[in-house]
Amino acid sequence: MYDVIIIGSGPAGLAAAIYAQRACMDMLVLEKNYMSGGQVLDTYEVDNYPGLKGMNGFDLGMKLREHADALGAKFVTAAVREVRIKEGRLEGDVQAAEAAKAGFCIVTDKETYEARTVIIAAGAQHRKLGIPGEEALAGRGVSYCATCDGAFFRDKTVAVIGGGDVAVEDAIFLARGCRKVYVVHRRDELRAVKSLQEKLLSLPNVEMVWDSVALDIRGEQAVEGLAVKNVKTQETQVLPVDGVFVAVGIQPNSQAYQGLVKMDPAGYICADETGRTSVPGLFAAGDIRTKALRQILTAAADGANAVFAAEQFLNAQK
Ligand code: NAP
Repeated sequence: MYDVIIIGSGPAGLAAAIYAQRACMDMLVLEKNYMSGGQVLDTYEVDNYPGLKGMNGFDLGMKLREHADALGAKFVTAAVREVRIKEGRLEGDVQAAEAAKAGFCIVTDKETYEARTVIIAAGAQHRKLGIPGEEALAGRGVSYCATCDGAFFRDKTVAVIGGGDVAVEDAIFLARGCRKVYVVHRRDELRAVKSLQEKLLSLPNVEMVWDSVALDIRGEQAVEGLAVKNVKTQETQVLPVDGVFVAVGIQPNSQAYQGLVKMDPAGYICADETGRTSVPGLFAAGDIRTKALRQILTAAADGANAVFAAEQFLNAQK
């Protein structure tokens, strides 16, 4: 039985791996993908991680993994299906507290593992719009990752949907190679940080489509247009685009833990900055937990805090 199993290998999971190794805990990281780094891999430029101004996101992901490897952290590629309190699933925190002393079974698509504590750092994924054409044209002009797919749209016209940090970062990135970039936002004010907004609005080949929602994505074999409606005037128009980049937020990868641990209505695992959840011995770190600011920096801090809390939990069991 491991002291701690860390689920996920984004910045939170990798920071947890580094801290767990340094704490000499018997640990294992379970990662769903063959490459560590999580969402940071899709980020062209990370400009707010202290000391690493202008860092390429992919490189940062690789550096975090190299650091964990250098300390001897153990990784297995496997998708977690379920985490069970070892003596069977029990209802209620009091029983769960007793059962948690026995540890957890982590059921994956390959093997089942056992651990005395678990840190869930499984992150979040792109939210979908759910409009006609989105699914049918996914990979044929509809994308959720500008840094992955942007190169296919060199000298073409694209639309980015959303007004948060990701949408604005994506639009700035795409504007470097595309002829024109429309940014379609449902309000008349962006959610993204001011510095990104200023950069975006200064670009000559970016056109803002304010107060507008996407109705459907058009095209037979590939994207040919995006129908949008202005929510103030009710006017509709079809933007002549070759690509649509959807950046309307994230949703937590928490389905496997439903029924096990308390979550908020959006599916984020309820946990404070110590990572403690409603189940003793089970911790949550990074984008998957309830928090005000989802950043690489706060995810990494969560990983460190969760290991500290897991150590305290294990020490209290002795
Ligand atoms: P976000 O901040 O939640 O923004 C989502 C955007 O999409 C908002 O502008 C929202 O509009 C819009 N939206 C949501 N649902 C929509 C719908 N159905 N139709 C149209 N528009 C919709 O999400 P994000 O930009 O993906 O960022 C996710 C998290 O990662 C944030 O906490 C962000 O700060 C963080 N992040 C951090 C870094 C970094 O650390 N360097 C980089 C990028 C992102 P409204 O504004 O009207 O709600």
